Amino acid sequence: MARVLIVGAGLTGSLCAALLRRETARPLHLTVWDKAGDSGGRMITASSPHNSQCTVDLGAQYITCTSHHAKKHQSFYDELLAHGVLKPLTSPIEGMVMKDGECNFVAPQGVSSIIKHYLKESGADICFRQCVTQINLRNDKWEVSKETGSPEQFDIVVLTMPVPQILQLQGDITNLISERQRQQLESVSYSSRYALGLFYEAGTKIDVPWAGQYINSNPCIRFISIDNKKRNIESSEIGPSLVVHTTVPFGVTHLEHSTEDVQELIFQQLEDILPGLPPPVATKCQKWRHSQVGWNWKAATDCMNIIKL
Ligand SMILES: Cc1cc2nc3c(=O)[nH]c(=O)nc-3n(C[C@H](O)[C@H](O)[C@H](O)COP(=O)(O)OP(=O)(O)OC[C@H]3O[C@@H](n4cnc5c(N)ncnc54)[C@H](O)[C@@H]3O)c2cc1C
Repeated sequence: MARVLIVGAGLTGSLCAALLRRETARPLHLTVWDKAGDSGGRMITASSPHNSQCTVDLGAQYITCTSHHAKKHQSFYDELLAHGVLKPLTSPIEGMVMKDGECNFVAPQGVSSIIKHYLKESGADICFRQCVTQINLRNDKWEVSKETGSPEQFDIVVLTMPVPQILQLQGDITNLISERQRQQLESVSYSSRYALGLFYEAGTKIDVPWAGQYINSNPCIRFISIDNKKRNIESSEIGPSLVVHTTVPFGVTHLEHSTEDVQELIFQQLEDILPGLPPPVATKCQKWRHSQVGWNWKAATDCMNIIKL
């Protein structure tokens, strides 16, 4: 049986695993490795240490479906809607720019539930805290090394992490990428930003008329969402949660600062925007070094097949 390794338990890795299981007649042994401690990648949902049901989406907030993709990816949307993984976004997001024919969806159980849905469907063996460092060719197999533990051999390896992390890998993989491909891949840029998740006690009121708001007038904060309100899961037993995304200039300037310092700066700015916000019972500050891909990603799409070894 062919052994397939998918590196990355984000949306791309989980969907890739589910599609390989669904559409390949050949028997495959699927394995997914991720360096993180949970699935989700940039679609991670964090839980309060005081109540695992109090959650916040720290990366992607909602899924925008264009009219083109509504047709092209209809079966995916139908499946996720039928399982209750996605629901239409009905709460108000101030400052959101909508194009004709677009609609938005949220994941009531948190955006990482999309990834968990596909991973479950794939039946893959999933291993966390496995950081891939090297890929070498040994006797017609790909030998994959990680930070801890022995290397393992696979027939096929699919890399789904952001391009800069692929370019950091050592071993024979470096010789597979031509100089031209490397230049194109190196030209792919990503924005950087921070996300701060705030968890509150049950019964806390956050009295604003919106579920989310884009901010244009603050140097630090770009987006705020009352996350449980955005997902339409307000409850008297579970406290509300709030997420703040910083602007990209703030993220870039503070990329190498300590998370504690950055969290304090975000708090100060948040107090200006939402004065009198009650103190949270827990917080989670997340640095997104590779947040969203920049304008020049198309330059590299023609050499993206190199990531499929
Ligand atoms: C702040 C923010 C807001 C966003 N908002 C939206 C939004 O509203 N709507 C939307 O559609 N999209 C949004 N996005 C983009 C969306 O989250 C990403 O496009 C999507 O999650 C990418 O999924 P992926 O699986 O391709 O990559 P990732 O989610 O990055 O998954 C890659 C995985 O690879 C793992 N990995 C990396 N290196 C290694 C290694 N060496 N060994 C093992 N594992 C490794 C990582 O831990 C990660 O889990 C947002 C992203 C961010 C950061």
